[in-house]
Amino acid sequence: MSDLLDDSYSHDHEKDLADTLHIGVASLNEAGRLTWWNASAARLLGLRPKHRDKKVAQLLKGTGIRILFSNHIESLSITRKVGRKIWHLELSLKEDNNGGQLLVVRDTTEVERFLNMRKDFIANVSHELRTPLTVFRGYLELMQDGVIGSPSDQALIFDQMNDQCQRMETLVKDLLLLSRLEAGGPDPGTHQLFFPHDLIKEIMNDAKQLSQGQHTFVFDVDESLRLLGEVNELRSAFSNIIINAVRYTPAGGAITISWKKEGDWARFSVQDTGIGISSKHIDKITQRFYRVDQARPNAVIGGTGLGLAIVKHVLVRHDAELQVTSAPNEGSCFSCCFPLESKDADF
Ligand code: ADP
Repeated sequence: MSDLLDDSYSHDHEKDLADTLHIGVASLNEAGRLTWWNASAARLLGLRPKHRDKKVAQLLKGTGIRILFSNHIESLSITRKVGRKIWHLELSLKEDNNGGQLLVVRDTTEVERFLNMRKDFIANVSHELRTPLTVFRGYLELMQDGVIGSPSDQALIFDQMNDQCQRMETLVKDLLLLSRLEAGGPDPGTHQLFFPHDLIKEIMNDAKQLSQGQHTFVFDVDESLRLLGEVNELRSAFSNIIINAVRYTPAGGAITISWKKEGDWARFSVQDTGIGISSKHIDKITQRFYRVDQARPNAVIGGTGLGLAIVKHVLVRHDAELQVTSAPNEGSCFSCCFPLESKDADF
């Protein structure tokens, strides 16, 4: 009797343990029918009590599961919709001691998402490089054929080739910066306490050059407000936001740049009266290569599609937050909010 009790205890205990596993495990008898499964298998395969004794090959038909039973492959990748969720799963079979088999189910959804992201990223980078390279090749061919006649034609072509070179250089620079920001965790060792006033002014002067007198600039910066951070990273972040304000604000618009203490925050913000962004895009604009208007000829506007992704990463490394408010045809406000309570910072 006591043996029986012990046995059932250990059995239940094993089942409880199995339920804590992230990997799904289902037990199949010699006929390939389901006899038992743990909580993860139920979640990943959508198994319910009514599936007991059902043939797994029937339950997962259309996934190629029969090949797995034929022993010709070690594992099988399948996609399964359970409720509204789509799982990417890797299935494998192990012989058990009772003539049956264990079906082992691994959740590869995250890995799949990561691989897709990488694929998209490579496709995007290739796409971004293709345009300048096509222009370059076109002009080289013209030169080889000796078609370019007058010195003024030549000057025009060299200017355009130079622009395209700059575009590729900026893209490579942004890619390298982004990968550096993504690779390393925050490095407070390189943070220093400084007054951002001069830095912001310098960036505004660059933005004025780009604007060529087409926009009005308002500079509202608290000279005495300090910031603890990595100056070069912050330069990239602030510069991307200010330059975007110029690029997305039609001639005649205004750009207000401010750096102020606001409650518990030190806030850097850039308000423009430009084209604005509709609310459905706002959450996505910090994704790499996300552009609100995909059709816009970016060569004309001149961005890499990585600017706000860089901003987001720089802010994460400074414990800061990006806030965006915007309305189409009215303008946008991009703010970087730095917490004041940092005990290292003497605000
Ligand atoms: P890009 O190089 O395309 O500007 P970013 O990452 O800097 O890439 O910005 C992502 C997208 O967010 C832009 O393509 C644009 O659609 C939108 N955006 C960014 N800043 C502004 C702004 N100030 N006004 C309107 N749209 C903006």
